[in-house]
Amino acid sequence: MESPLLNIEDLSISFGTREVVHRLSLTIAPGETLGLVGESGSGKSATSLAILRLLPASARITGKIELNGHSLLTLPEESMRKHRGSSISMIFQEPMTALNPVMKVGAQIAEAYTAHHPGETRISLRNKVLQFMRDVALPDPERRIDDYPHQFSGGQRQRILIAMALINRPRLLIADEPTTALDVTVQAQILHLLKDIRRTHNLSMLFISHDLAVVSQIADRVAVMQHGKIVEQNTTQALFTNPQHPYTRSLLASAP
Ligand code: ADP
Ligand code: MG
Repeated sequence: MESPLLNIEDLSISFGTREVVHRLSLTIAPGETLGLVGESGSGKSATSLAILRLLPASARITGKIELNGHSLLTLPEESMRKHRGSSISMIFQEPMTALNPVMKVGAQIAEAYTAHHPGETRISLRNKVLQFMRDVALPDPERRIDDYPHQFSGGQRQRILIAMALINRPRLLIADEPTTALDVTVQAQILHLLKDIRRTHNLSMLFISHDLAVVSQIADRVAVMQHGKIVEQNTTQALFTNPQHPYTRSLLASAP
């Protein structure tokens, strides 16, 4: 098997005396999408934040997280900052909270790039922003580059965040409930976009959702999480046709 892009071994996370993730192990191969599914509070976001080392300093983290064979947990903060938003990017449930309401969207997309590539000329930067606005199918980029976040719909704001997440050409995209705040039609459009860019940008993806039906539309493999543990992990098809764990069966039974 090809060596994994992301390799997590025995990851445990505690807040105070409460362990919220227990000995979690998973891998993601280059180009692969792993779905992480589980009910609210099962430790999905804590896991994704641990990968980016964005958990509060009070969290106790043990185990191993490797990107391309390099340990992330032991990296100096300075090097971790370089990975964040460049080799690993993340998109969240609420696009509005991740955007600056008083800054033009074009400037925000540009800033995501210049944070990792200082010294880009203005013209070339503008062209890059327009290119990524086009890549995520934002309408009329030339005209809308100077609009503010509130002038876009929820789905369009998620597209803006996806453009920001992609502009440094990451290897891994962590999508934590990226469609949960959107209505069903828009949800389908964003899923379609993620499938599209995953191919064109040769991305690996950790796709997190409480909704197994959503996860199954995009994931090659699915890991099912309950109370901080992965209880079952399989290819999407095998998980649906032959679920092993009672919790997985209950998720399948409650799916529409
Ligand atoms: P999920 O994303 O699966 O809904 P989370 O990873 O957000 O779950 O949370 C897992 C558990 O960890 C929850 O019980 C939550 O209350 C707790 N938790 C998350 N972040 C913190 C924090 N910063 N401090 C204390 N507890 C936290
Ligand atoms: Mg969460």
